[in-house]
Amino acid sequence: MIIGIDIDNTITHTTEMILHYAQLFGREQGLNTTPDLRYYYLEDILGWDKRVADDFLNNYLGRIYTNMQPKEQAVDVIRELKKQHELILITSRNQKFPAVEEVTKNWLQQHGVPYDRLILNKTSNMHFFSKLDACRENGVEVMIEDHYELVSEISPHMPVIMFEYPYNRHLQNENIIRVNHWREVAGWLEQYQPQQIGNVG
Ligand SMILES: [Mg+2]
Repeated sequence: MIIGIDIDNTITHTTEMILHYAQLFGREQGLNTTPDLRYYYLEDILGWDKRVADDFLNNYLGRIYTNMQPKEQAVDVIRELKKQHELILITSRNQKFPAVEEVTKNWLQQHGVPYDRLILNKTSNMHFFSKLDACRENGVEVMIEDHYELVSEISPHMPVIMFEYPYNRHLQNENIIRVNHWREVAGWLEQYQPQQIGNVG
């Protein structure tokens, strides 16, 4: 099977690392540092001006992407999956900045995350791109994702294993599989039988 996997807040604890640096930066700048985790985007989480949030991210993303930690058992489960499946990492991290691609590849290597292909965002939007086309172009059959817009976009077309967060809890359809731990991802994939197509006797 071909499995698509998002990176931020799916393989990694991204929000935690962003907030760690945002609180240092916010205290320095006299900005609010109390997060509202119902939201997804930093400017909404902290109620900052979008320009301030973008400036912060431009300056700190290298450190954030370098120092973030994988989720519990993420690496172990992904290694097990790699033995049986093709793994396509699809991230909204932007390819326009060569440093982002380099930091991402280094992090995956350092933490021993195996994959067949890494697809980054090529659009002008720094932090988001539509992933359905990338899924289709790569024959992805199941996607693992946390972003509510992407789960909404992809789940009408294939099962989406969704890591649950306050910002995506409102989503519901029969193709969405909610999980909180990578062991649940492994368990669901083990029992999943893709539909047989064109099996004419
Ligand atoms: Mg994500």
